[in-house]
Amino acid sequence: SIYWVQGEFWPKEEIRVSPDDRGYLFGDGVYEMFRVYGGKLYEPKLHFERLERSAAGIRIPMPYSADELHERLRELIRRNNLQEGTVYIQITRGTAPRNHLFPKDSAPVTMAYCNELKRPLAQMEAGIRAVTVNDIRWLHCDYKTLNLLPNVLAKQEAVDRGGDDAILHRGEVVTECSASNVMIVSQGRLITHPANHLILHGVTRAVTLRLAAAAGIPVEERTFTLDELRAAEEVFQTGTTIEVMPVVMIDGQRVGDGQPGPVTRRLQKHFEATLGD
Ligand code: PLP
Repeated sequence: SIYWVQGEFWPKEEIRVSPDDRGYLFGDGVYEMFRVYGGKLYEPKLHFERLERSAAGIRIPMPYSADELHERLRELIRRNNLQEGTVYIQITRGTAPRNHLFPKDSAPVTMAYCNELKRPLAQMEAGIRAVTVNDIRWLHCDYKTLNLLPNVLAKQEAVDRGGDDAILHRGEVVTECSASNVMIVSQGRLITHPANHLILHGVTRAVTLRLAAAAGIPVEERTFTLDELRAAEEVFQTGTTIEVMPVVMIDGQRVGDGQPGPVTRRLQKHFEATLGD
């Protein structure tokens, strides 16, 4: 496959990454994961805005404008002949001998690649099993940085405990999942954690809230507790690769009657209708 690294297109085998890259040494960088449907980036504007916000948040100067990046990613998709899949892009602070202090004379390093990926239709139909895991992350979960160790550990713990994914909580408050946001339906109302510093501001979250509002489903962006999660009529995740994913089991207990609920199904349908946009 063809990668885009430091402004040029390369076969994967020919790419050289420095052992001094700060992404490698410190996780000192940011990234985005885009969905590609029909050979095109889905909601590119929201992803580029988030990338710029993440980079600004950790003080990495953006080496390209959003328009330049969009054009390069289109070329990446074209060169890889990608129809349905993902595009990953990361920007690190650059290459310099290991020292915590920002290097004075190094430029950011940009790398992007794409992968084929089908929509997870079987899982979207059946739903997944979640386990609750303590959210041990830092206080800027709104920046999409390369530091994913707590997310990695949470996902592994979930699978080790017989689940598919982790629902994270800080004390009694449910935040999000290892790589997605989480929403509950309670007395017909859709509830999800506010978009503040404790969660990633998901593109799929934003799209889903917009679709819910348009469908006349009452929406509340507020914190909710583990008790509310367990008592919810419906629970689902939102994310770039999983779209609207029903959660049918939490810590071995059924959510509602153990089947994806009607609000979840409606939102899945509305989401699907946006794919051709
Ligand atoms: N929360 C976390 C921690 C994530 O890593 C992600 C996406 O990768 C999301 C939420 C969902 O965001 P999006 O819908 O933009 O994919």
